[in-house]
Amino acid sequence: MKVPSPRLRWYERIYLWEIARGMVVTMRHMIRNLFRQREMPTVQWPEEPKHLPVRIKGRHRLTVREDGSPKCVACYMCATACPARCIHIEAEESPEPTIEKVPKAFDIDMLRCVFCGYCVEACPEDAIRMDTGEVSIVSDNRDDFIFHMDFLLRGSGEEWKKKRGRPEPVEEDEDLSSPPDTPEETRDGYRRRERPPVPSSW
Ligand code: SF4
Ligand code: SF4
Repeated sequence: MKVPSPRLRWYERIYLWEIARGMVVTMRHMIRNLFRQREMPTVQWPEEPKHLPVRIKGRHRLTVREDGSPKCVACYMCATACPARCIHIEAEESPEPTIEKVPKAFDIDMLRCVFCGYCVEACPEDAIRMDTGEVSIVSDNRDDFIFHMDFLLRGSGEEWKKKRGRPEPVEEDEDLSSPPDTPEETRDGYRRRERPPVPSSW
């Protein structure tokens, strides 16, 4: 289908008139915004906080019982449902006779998380939620994006944002070439672990 070109007048063909018209529109907006800044839709983030919807999926947290222990029963449902394979759980026997297992380690790799919320949906204990409203997760250190159980249970505020349950740095003279003697062995409170392989179909 042939679309006929519109016939331009001589002053439209030299474009100066159209450029001047465009500049008038631009200047009109600029001057109006200078004097009516409060009405502008721009959010001056991060100085000005952005009001997020209450149901937005923020960074995860682990919920606790009345006695402060985690509600999580280490059932691995969230890790199984996670499409990004970014949840790492290690279970141990619970000292409580009515609870079979509790997590010994519960880490989330936020660099792999896609904020889908499947982990929250899969949890039968309401033990994991994404209702913190924290969506600005930034750091210049990759380790900061591994959220450990300690931070997920109690982390909030600036102080915790700094710590994020990051493990103590490993001593330089420590031999990292061989794994710990037993699977239970930890190094400075941090458990070395293998990430589950991502299926090739993903
Ligand atoms: S939000 Fe999705 S990708 Fe992130 S940890 Fe939960 S299930 Fe995995
Ligand atoms: S957070 Fe919920 S789904 Fe995940 S291991 Fe704990 S109890 Fe199971």
